[in-house]
Amino acid sequence: MELVFRARRAITAAGTGPCSVGVEGGRIVAVEPGAALSGDRVVELGEDVVLMPGLVDTHVHVNDPGRTEWEGFETATRAAAAGGVTTIVDMPLNSLPPTVDPDALEVKRKTAAGRVHVDVGFWGGAIPGNSGHLAALHEAGVFGFKCFLLHSGVDEFPPLDDAELEADLRILAELGALMIVHAEDAPTIDAAPQPHGPRYAGFLASRPREAENRAIARVIELARRTGARAHILHLSSSDALPMIAAARAEGVALTVETCPHYLSFTAEEIRDGATQFKCCPPIREAGNRELLWQGLADGVIDCVVSDHSPCTPELKRLDSGDFGAAWGGIAGLQVGLPAVWSGAAQRGHGLADVVRWMATRPAELAGMTRKGRIAPGYDADFCVFAPDEEFVVDVAKLRHRNPVSAYDGSPLRGVVRQTWLRGQEVTGDDPRGELLNRGQC
Ligand SMILES: [Zn+2]
Repeated sequence: MELVFRARRAITAAGTGPCSVGVEGGRIVAVEPGAALSGDRVVELGEDVVLMPGLVDTHVHVNDPGRTEWEGFETATRAAAAGGVTTIVDMPLNSLPPTVDPDALEVKRKTAAGRVHVDVGFWGGAIPGNSGHLAALHEAGVFGFKCFLLHSGVDEFPPLDDAELEADLRILAELGALMIVHAEDAPTIDAAPQPHGPRYAGFLASRPREAENRAIARVIELARRTGARAHILHLSSSDALPMIAAARAEGVALTVETCPHYLSFTAEEIRDGATQFKCCPPIREAGNRELLWQGLADGVIDCVVSDHSPCTPELKRLDSGDFGAAWGGIAGLQVGLPAVWSGAAQRGHGLADVVRWMATRPAELAGMTRKGRIAPGYDADFCVFAPDEEFVVDVAKLRHRNPVSAYDGSPLRGVVRQTWLRGQEVTGDDPRGELLNRGQC
């Protein structure tokens, strides 16, 4: 073997325990219990760390090109690597151009090429008027299509109405492609009190649970009617869990993700003016958070992914603390793993659960067959994680572009010691990430 990892604790497709993992040509070629394998180079891991698959984060806004003062491929992928994430899939909006036709995808690819420290795939976008481009984008290798049901926050990525959503779902059903949906209902939010000023309670009231519940009910209905695969992004309203479970039981092709911030924070604890916590849908009450954890435990929620969506400190309006004016989005790509592990451990979940939520299931969601597991044939992407070490997040040390994060000052459990991409340790110096195509990874 070229390279062998000997781990006292590893989380592999075969289970959890001591094992050796053999790597050749960047791929895993053998996984054996104990210290069975030997190789040209052997990485001996200590008692204090766990060898896990590199995480797969299917919800990242890199914003490059076009809004690179918010984030960019170098900074986002360095943050990913520092957080144990070896694959990200970039969202189609907030960059300019948005990824809504093959030319725009080509612009993204050219921009990212040679600059990424982890592997990067791309979602396409479904907006009014681009139905004719969906098949070509699918052919060009996007992992699926994102749409909004209300204003996205940027004018160049408008929402679909019900008729447009249904028409696009029919196209995607033909292609076998996935639609991923920002599910909040515009009329419900228009009828809610508008957010302004620094009160978090005012912001929360402006994005009520009913907005999510109604939009999700509509997505379920249209997925049922069209037979398309649909995925609910960033679920915050736990009210929707029973209808999601019922739809799945009935055979609707529906998957669901939530995000580390909905599992970590509560509305009750967010200080007025703390706009680093503003995201849409919003972080809700403590009781809601516990029901989201229950949704994970029950398997109703498939994945936990970051929805890393940073911007500049100015756009976060940290000076005025105005929740109405601040950009909505949380920067958490680098700390998702310790954040989720901290909460999971408190609630009696194991690291194997976290690996399922943050690596295996997101890879499956995107149709990746070489990512998200330690098993022969998979890419040798690893996170070496010290689950019992504790630290306090210092935003100045995070590697995404702007030093703003809701996690600043949070005490968390679990430290990423090393990240390996296709058999090479990621240092942040030499960008060796690849650009991924659907069906080829
Ligand atoms: Zn997002």
